[in-house]
Parts: sequence; structure tokens; C-alpha cells
Amino acid sequence: MNIHEHQAKDLLKKFGAPVSLGHVATNPEEIDELEKKLTDNREYVVKAQIHAGGRGKAGGVKITKNIVETLETAKKILGKVLVTHQTGPTGKEVKRVYIEESSQIQKEFYISCLIDRSKSTITFISSSEGGMDIEKIAQEDSSKINKINILDVNKVSEDEYKNILSPFKLNNDQISQGKIIINAMLEVTKKKDATLVEINPLILNKNNNLHCLDAKITIDDNALFRQPEILKLRDLNEEEPSEIEASKYDLAYIKLDGEIGCMVNGAGLAMATMDIIKMHGKEPANFLDVGGGASKEKVSAALKLILADKNVKGILINIFGGIMRCDVLAQGVIDAATEIELDIPLVVRLAGTKVEEGKKILADANIKILAANDLNDAAKKIVEAIN
Ligand code: GDP
Ligand code: MN
Repeated sequence: MNIHEHQAKDLLKKFGAPVSLGHVATNPEEIDELEKKLTDNREYVVKAQIHAGGRGKAGGVKITKNIVETLETAKKILGKVLVTHQTGPTGKEVKRVYIEESSQIQKEFYISCLIDRSKSTITFISSSEGGMDIEKIAQEDSSKINKINILDVNKVSEDEYKNILSPFKLNNDQISQGKIIINAMLEVTKKKDATLVEINPLILNKNNNLHCLDAKITIDDNALFRQPEILKLRDLNEEEPSEIEASKYDLAYIKLDGEIGCMVNGAGLAMATMDIIKMHGKEPANFLDVGGGASKEKVSAALKLILADKNVKGILINIFGGIMRCDVLAQGVIDAATEIELDIPLVVRLAGTKVEEGKKILADANIKILAANDLNDAAKKIVEAIN
């Protein structure tokens, strides 16, 4: 789960990191209310709060000169649709704005902290090239990316602090500030189950102090059950409606951009299915794992989810019956397809428990279903059918 910049900054602040004083508003009335809180007639920065980066370039970050201009700008940004490299072409509507005392920037750096599963540790990435797209820097000049693994996450060593901060070329005072920021990032990661804490840019301000100008935090969804305070920060406006619907049925669903909807049981099989679709020249419309013991209702919900995606031109169902019985799946498919009046090609490949019963249910049904012998045959058939 992602949280907003202002929420991420609140968290970092709780653990000691320096951030600016700011206020949030979600409608014009709330923006007007802020007039009382913005006591200094100074420069502010108005920032669109959406779960995507690249807001600056898309007009979602504006520096203003005084209180009047700040409130006007906030009203202009609210409701705007921002298109950034992370929103997709349709963009995202700004439903809340954040107004912060602006900072003067001497230098912009990049720092992030993430879980490195392959090394079973926490890794810090830092770069002198802040404020920019880190993926782009990594591509153009990987020597600008500094990666430090923390050996013992309960005690960062002096060398590790020094190495993380080395690209910034700091003086001793600033190094002490850097350590505080590193500790704050580490504490958020450990205590709040974050998988990513990113500050981009981390700046040297006009007083030559390190200061967090932007913040992004991603929380591990699997840990949300023990993070009630974090769960309160969830903003459903920012999530894919189909993925919210999927989570109600405990379906692992991720929307993608292709044309072939997939319903599969098991994450490994789901990935193999997506690969095979690509091998046959098409793109999957989603990742969907219905899980091991899916009920008829769950299968039906899954099929509806796939069909709600307007890009879907055909569906491939690939089930290996283990705990999941092929006859249960088949009945779920028939029920859902009948209810929705399925009018696009559907290929089904079944194997495993109660496969003959499952195939019979499909064959007897009043719905046009293309049966496939194996996975390759299934992918071939669905691609042919939509061509
Ligand atoms: P992003 O584009 O979504 O990553 O949003 P950021 O919060 O990182 O803002 C984009 C850019 O706007 C930053 O890299 C800064 O250059 C600039 N910016 C943000 N806040 C301030 C501020 O308080 N003062 C100044 N001068 N620039 C700012
Ligand atoms: Mn940023």
C-alpha cells in the first residue's frame, strides 16, 4: 500500500527527520480555512497529493509568493488531472493538496531505503543526482547510484553511515543530520513494515542543513493486519477500483494493459500463463491468482472482474486442480458467464482433480467455450480467437 507524501512526511517526522510545516486540504472550503493557519506572508509550495511521482514536471508542484497566491494556486491544482510517467496516459485527478512552507534549495540529493529480499537485509540507495527520476539515472550512469547493504539492521555501523552519505560530500554537522535521517528511514521501515522509504529530493537548504523535500513510503500489504494506524492512511481514491473489488474476495489481482484476461490458480502458474501469452504475441490484461481452494462465488467474482476491464478481448482460464476442484471451477465459470452474458472468446484449460467432471460441465453448458489440451494449446487458441 502506498501513502501520500504528507503522510509519509508525518511518519518520518515522528522518527526525527526534518520536514517542513504543512497543511492538507481536500476541497475549496478547506483551502479557505487554511488562511488562518498560514500566518507568515511568505513563499509556500503547493503540492498535488496523488500516489505517483513526477508531479513537478506535470504542474503538480507550484511555488507561490504569498498567502493569497497560495490559496488561489491550491484551488487551481485541486481537481486537475495530472499525467506523469507513473500515472499512465489517463492521468490521476488531484483530490487533495498539501501546502508547505517552501525551502530554498542549494543541492538536491536522492536517498532511499528498501528491503532487499535476495540479501535478507535493508539496503540504502543514495545519489548526488536528486530530484530526478532515479531509474533514468541508473540507466544513464549507474556509477551515480550508491548501494549500501546494512549488515545488522539493529545497529548501523559508522562505516555504513559514511558510505550511504558519501555521494553528498557533507561536512561533519551535515553528516550528523544525515545519520538522523537514515535512522528515521530505518525505523519507519522496521516499525511500520515499509518496503520502500524514498526521499527525493533530500536537499541542502539555504542554511546548509539537510531537509526532506519529498517523501514516498510503500507499506507491505501482508503486514497491514498489524498496522492499524497505517491502514487508516489508506486512500481508496488512489487505488485501482478493480483491485479494491478483488481484495474483497481475497483474489490476488493486478490490472495490466493487455487484451487477454487470465484466470489462473497459483502465482507461478499465473506467471507462466502470462509468459506463454506473450510468446504467442499478445499481452495479458491482468495477473489473477484465484488461490488454492477457490469457491464458486470466488471464481464468479474473478470472471466479473476480468470482464469489467474494457480492454479485454478474450479470456484464458488455466487451472491446475489440486485443492481446487475442476468441477467447482467449471460451475463457477458457467454461472458467471451466463449471468454476464459473456460475448468474447473463452478458452479453458483444466488439469488435475475432477478434471473429467469439470470438462463435462463445460461441454454440456449452453456457452461457447474453447477447450484446450495443454497450456501452449490454450494460449495459441485464445490468440487465434481474438485475431
Ligand atoms: P515529484 O515531482 O512528484 O517527485 O515532486 P517533488 O516533491 O519531488 O517536487 C518536484 C520538484 O519541485 C523538486 O525536485 C524540487 O526541485 C521542487 N520543489 C519542491 N518543493 C520545493 C520547495 O519547497 N522549494 C523549491 N525551491 N523547490 C521545490
Ligand atoms: Mn520527488
